[in-house]
Amino acid sequence: MVTLVRAPNPSPMTLTGTNSYVIDCGNGEAICIDPGPAIETHVDTLVAECARTNSRLVWICLTHGHPDHAPAAALLRAHTGAKVAAAASSGIAHDRALHDGDTIATGNVVLQTIAAPGHSSDHVVFYEGSERALFTGDVVLGEGYVVVAPPDGDMRAYVRTLQRLRAEFAQAQTIYGGHGEPVRDPRAKLDEYLEHRRVRELEIVGALKNGERTVPELVRSIYARADPKLWAAAARQILAYLIALEREGRVRSREMKTPLEPRDEALLNPPWSTVVGPEHAAIVEEELGADLRIDRLRVYTLIR
Ligand SMILES: [Zn+2]
Repeated sequence: MVTLVRAPNPSPMTLTGTNSYVIDCGNGEAICIDPGPAIETHVDTLVAECARTNSRLVWICLTHGHPDHAPAAALLRAHTGAKVAAAASSGIAHDRALHDGDTIATGNVVLQTIAAPGHSSDHVVFYEGSERALFTGDVVLGEGYVVVAPPDGDMRAYVRTLQRLRAEFAQAQTIYGGHGEPVRDPRAKLDEYLEHRRVRELEIVGALKNGERTVPELVRSIYARADPKLWAAAARQILAYLIALEREGRVRSREMKTPLEPRDEALLNPPWSTVVGPEHAAIVEEELGADLRIDRLRVYTLIR
């Protein structure tokens, strides 16, 4: 039995809020996946959900360490005594380090850990066989697409993760993502996600066929019709593709000597708090890799 408990943290990055999940394991025990942000009332709701099914919380499992998914783990652990499980590479304090293939089992629930890097390097996804449920965190969402931003995000790793989920977990009945509503047709959703990435990359390669380009130039042509508020996020996404293409020898780049012009600075290193409001700045900085400051423009040239 899976219950969605949505955290009260709506924002442009988190959609209607972060999805926490409580799984009633049928033996008086429960597992929580992604306890969410450290908001007391949300933790109280998670505790109340366990009480409603007369179950004791035994595991708190993290898909990844981003600030809208993981910080409540410590609070919830203190309230319930449950143990925290996260990827071995997670920077969040945890009692059990998870590796690909590891399982967490209690009652009629067996959660399989699937290493799922790409959105972040510490990302894992969980598969529960009895309900054929995939808990995907920020790898697949109920609506919209996922941000993959350097330095921690890796576009090729992300696409490989999607391909692996499509190949090995095609039998899944439901995707419970980190934001948005549950997805009842996982295969179609994974196909849609893979197609979206393929088309975006073709657009970037297509633009480079017309001559060398900088990231801001690519943003202004490819996202010409999108809300300029989204351009800073778009710039980071395009950078993720270019890093992958350059690593593969399909693109080369050189750094320009001149400092950034103000309009490029605003696009590449925006004051993140003004993009989304100060209360969401921490999330957007993690999601978009704000720790990667871009001091010089690079010009990208297509090789093949
Ligand atoms: Zn995230």
